Amino acid sequence: MIDPKIFAVFDLKSPKSSLPELAVRLLDGQKETWPQLTAGYSSLDSIRLREVRCGGYSVWLQFNPGRIVSTGAKVDAQSIRERRCFLCVQNLPAAQNGILYRDEFLILCNPAPIFREHFTISHVDHVPQLFSNSVVRFLELARDLSPRYTVFYNGPRCGASAPDHMHFQASPSGTIPVEEAAREKSRRMRRKHVRGVEILTLADFGREVIVLESQQIERLGHVLLDLLEALPAATGTKEEPMMNLLCSYGDSAWRVILFPRSKHRPDAYFKEGDERILISPAAVDIGGLIVTPLEKDFNTVDARTVEGIFREVSIPQATVEAAIEELS
Ligand SMILES: [Zn+2]
Repeated sequence: MIDPKIFAVFDLKSPKSSLPELAVRLLDGQKETWPQLTAGYSSLDSIRLREVRCGGYSVWLQFNPGRIVSTGAKVDAQSIRERRCFLCVQNLPAAQNGILYRDEFLILCNPAPIFREHFTISHVDHVPQLFSNSVVRFLELARDLSPRYTVFYNGPRCGASAPDHMHFQASPSGTIPVEEAAREKSRRMRRKHVRGVEILTLADFGREVIVLESQQIERLGHVLLDLLEALPAATGTKEEPMMNLLCSYGDSAWRVILFPRSKHRPDAYFKEGDERILISPAAVDIGGLIVTPLEKDFNTVDARTVEGIFREVSIPQATVEAAIEELS
């Protein structure tokens, strides 16, 4: 079933091409042969960007009408059950293919791109979006896709448009503003050193964020899972905490950026008429690049609105402090 969908296999032992080289080749090829992708990328030519200066930080709004499907998507359990899973191999468009990664994931081009190079990295099986099962894969992917790409993850209740099918995404390194912020000396607040992992928070950032840095993949994986255990589970469930994660790799070290969340969509998303703001924050948005599929939102969203949305969907600072405190 999967064979016709394999454009290339990433060879771990003797890679003839690096994973970023294969990804670029996949994207170039798919733009030639898959009309939906060609259209998706041409629509990127007409996107607009606007900087909004908030207290202590800036964000960018991206007017991107092509994202209406994802931003407006119904992600409740019933809607998900009733739709055909668009990440299952047998449901992929005929023209779509991908790179087989460690026999477990298929790296695919995202037909509704936010970035000049935007990939969805989908599990080969229909297994639920659950981070703890794939923590090491997440870190390996970030290393294998470096230095060109950053990998990110949206929790099943926090922006994943296929909460029933495990997937990551990848974007060009450095294009999500928090990546730069996490390097700024003035923001980096060292909290703790746990088993070879440095734990930091970022000052003056308007939403809670925890940064983990380490050169040791196993230890980083364990400390990250311990931290997730220490954060409150999604309301009324035993699931993983609501969260968005980004990971990059450079200078022999990983950097994981974690946004613990209390809420996926802000109240304004559910309002009627002019009061409705179609912003559905996932990793990219909470990271500082806010996608607005509607032009009216792009034109009117201001610093106060952004600050309010970030506060509303982020967890309290005290909860973050308590979770970090628990780590030993
Ligand atoms: Zn599926």
